Amino acid sequence: MSRAVIIGGGIVGLSIARALLKRGHEVHVIDQGPIPNPEGASVDRHRMIRPHYGAATGYARMVAPAFEAWDRLWADLGETHFENTGAISISLEPGDYAAKTLASFREAGIPHEVLDKAGVEERCPQLILPEAAWGVVAEPAGPLFADRIVAGLADWLRCNGATLEENCRIARVEPDAARAWREDGSEINGDRLVVAAGAWLPGLMPEQFGEAPAYRQALLYIDPPQDYAEAWRDAPPIVTLGDHTGYTLPDRRGAGLKIGYSNHRRRARPDVEGFASDFEAESQAIFQPFVPYLRKAEAYRPLRLQLGYYVLSPDRRFRFEAAGKGLVITDCDGQMFKFGPLVGERVAGMFDGAESAESLKHWAAGY
Ligand SMILES: Cc1cc2nc3c(=O)[nH]c(=O)nc-3n(C[C@H](O)[C@H](O)[C@H](O)COP(=O)(O)OP(=O)(O)OC[C@H]3O[C@@H](n4cnc5c(N)ncnc54)[C@H](O)[C@@H]3O)c2cc1C
Repeated sequence: MSRAVIIGGGIVGLSIARALLKRGHEVHVIDQGPIPNPEGASVDRHRMIRPHYGAATGYARMVAPAFEAWDRLWADLGETHFENTGAISISLEPGDYAAKTLASFREAGIPHEVLDKAGVEERCPQLILPEAAWGVVAEPAGPLFADRIVAGLADWLRCNGATLEENCRIARVEPDAARAWREDGSEINGDRLVVAAGAWLPGLMPEQFGEAPAYRQALLYIDPPQDYAEAWRDAPPIVTLGDHTGYTLPDRRGAGLKIGYSNHRRRARPDVEGFASDFEAESQAIFQPFVPYLRKAEAYRPLRLQLGYYVLSPDRRFRFEAAGKGLVITDCDGQMFKFGPLVGERVAGMFDGAESAESLKHWAAGY
């Protein structure tokens, strides 16, 4: 048995903690906030899991094993925090994300259904689409109820003997030596150390990761017109609508309808910029790109913004840096939630010698 220290109590840190605990290791998770921390990227009512990945076929292929890992988590938690609604990517022009996704599904043998414009509008009657539109639907896919998952994971860890240290900011780390120092100067060490600090990494490790591109993203909870509330609830979540619009999650289990617009993100760090927002301006910036495609667009009512931060590299590949006794996980993008439990299992396996750090790094990069 060895002792692992994990910095960061989001989906990545908690999933690694669970997998290590199940392998018989001692686990100590530290977070600067409560666990779960409502400011972390892992805390919101829902996150999407879907195999639609444009041309990134490596990540599309990782989704089936990710579901198997989720099933093992549901067995531990005694509850399933997922609904299989399917998901759709809608094409508006040749070569866009949906077109790349379709090519990737064909290459990887991922089951899917192609719908013409009429078929998409039948599944999504809240939409009004241009003549050339078509869609690609795949399942299993749908909402993962994120805040319930991280809360459930934290409870499971507490009940199974992990130490969860809350409201304790780590000021300095030496991952390769498996050592870290709290703000009060006290040291904590183990046989292994994982840094899963999300978008706070540039501030925590400025020398190695100070330039890591952290982004601020806001999502919008919105009330649809009464006539289309049921359609939004029943329709598959929209992964993309053309190349930039899209990202919708349905009002299932009381989570609310949520929409996002990828171009709304901007470079910013949570430790510098914080969590303030301009509700009027940002809700319009997110909603307006949807307007040309919505029936009764004038009847939607923005409710609230959900802010989050992540590190997103230009090549959009997860980055796992192992050295000595340590592992730093970064560049989790707006994509890592769905892979959390699978990543936890792979990292714990790597620590126990089931694969090399190099092979884990290669896998995580989606090759
Ligand atoms: C708006 C948005 C939408 C997204 N949509 C999806 C989606 O639909 N599907 C999907 O799969 N993924 C999605 N993602 C991505 C996914 O949520 C993230 O990649 C994932 O949650 C990252 O998990 P994490 O544990 O690495 O980071 P986080 O959840 O941010 O956790 C990091 C933790 O580290 C703690 N910490 C940081 N620094 C310190 C320190 N110095 N000392 C102590 N503790 C520290 C923080 O307090 C935090 O709790 C989305 C992300 C955002 C922001």
